[in-house]
Amino acid sequence: MSKIILTGDRPTGPLHIGHYAGSIRRRVELQNSGEYDKIYIMIADAQALTDNAENPEKVRQNIIEVALDYLSCGLDPEKSTLLIQSQIPELCELSFYYMNLVTVSRLQRNPTVKSEIQMRNFEASIPVGFFTYPISQAADITAFGATTVPVGEDQLPMIEQTKEIVRKFNSVYGDTLVEPDALLSANKSCLRLPGTDGKAKMSKSLHNCIYLSDSEEEVRKKVMSMFTDPNHLQVSDPGKVEGNPVFIYLEAFCRDELFAEYLPEYANLEELKAHYTRGGLGDVKVKKFLNNVLQEELAPIRSRRKTWETDIPAVYDILRKGSLAARQAAAKTLADVKESMKINYFDDRALIDQQTLKYREQK
Ligand code: ATP
Ligand code: MG
Repeated sequence: MSKIILTGDRPTGPLHIGHYAGSIRRRVELQNSGEYDKIYIMIADAQALTDNAENPEKVRQNIIEVALDYLSCGLDPEKSTLLIQSQIPELCELSFYYMNLVTVSRLQRNPTVKSEIQMRNFEASIPVGFFTYPISQAADITAFGATTVPVGEDQLPMIEQTKEIVRKFNSVYGDTLVEPDALLSANKSCLRLPGTDGKAKMSKSLHNCIYLSDSEEEVRKKVMSMFTDPNHLQVSDPGKVEGNPVFIYLEAFCRDELFAEYLPEYANLEELKAHYTRGGLGDVKVKKFLNNVLQEELAPIRSRRKTWETDIPAVYDILRKGSLAARQAAAKTLADVKESMKINYFDDRALIDQQTLKYREQK
């Protein structure tokens, strides 16, 4: 069986270091591993519209931001197909048929949908499109026959929902769809990177992000004003590293070589943590180190972005070509789905013959 990746992001803002740690860094590694037959990276604009229906301009403006972030992180259009969700109408058709295989109560139990509804204060006025987005996500994944979906931890319930839809479809209509698996980061700190404010998730909607496109100065300022252990008031106080976003970011991004370069008193993160925990190490020193670590990671991304920014038409052209190629793959799956569901009337010679015979016999 082919090994195929599908993954993507909502164009609701530029991408942040949570996306990078949770998914994009891994995508680039997988892309360059040569182990996958196809890689589809989707800008999920139709999904973004489910909770931004009144603000299409925001979605429209952020397509290019996400595309520039992809290219600057090293996603390569020669190796990965970059596409825009709304340009593949087959995805809507698939969603429409999958809707019959999911109950309202199952959607209500989806923990990601539950917490996102709460976060957006939708309460009783949840847009139907938003409520059903796990179904549309199942369409995205299955349309491309994806076997692997690299995501952050918050997306696990979505993959579970997709698996259920695939099993149900295949058991009702016969083996047609491929069941995907989520691929999580092996680094625990990357599964759900917290915000700079200490909130559980760095998220565009919570305004607690360090963006991949932030300038060197913006990153420095954000790092220096980060939330840490609120009880670590004096340098001499013992500090807590668990749940402390400064240390979580270090776990996600720092390498031992960077200690030698920027903080040679310590050999590695374990030594730094031990000192912080027993007291005598100030937040400013740790934050300065974190800033250096992040700048090391972000500088090459920033510089590749500068280059791509000089040729915006080329970026749109990459998306146009990718969307066209993706559409062909999705159309093939849709044709298979319609055949399995027996709604391919005009291609079904046996049906036409059977009806012909039935009416002939009635005469
Ligand atoms: P929004 O607030 O609009 O939902 P978001 O910041 O949650 O935006 P998405 O586009 O929903 O971003 O997520 C894209 C991908 O990035 C998903 O695979 C998601 O799991 C991953 N991701 C998002 N935020 C984080 C995070 N803080 N840590 C790890 N992975 C993340
Ligand atoms: Mg999200």
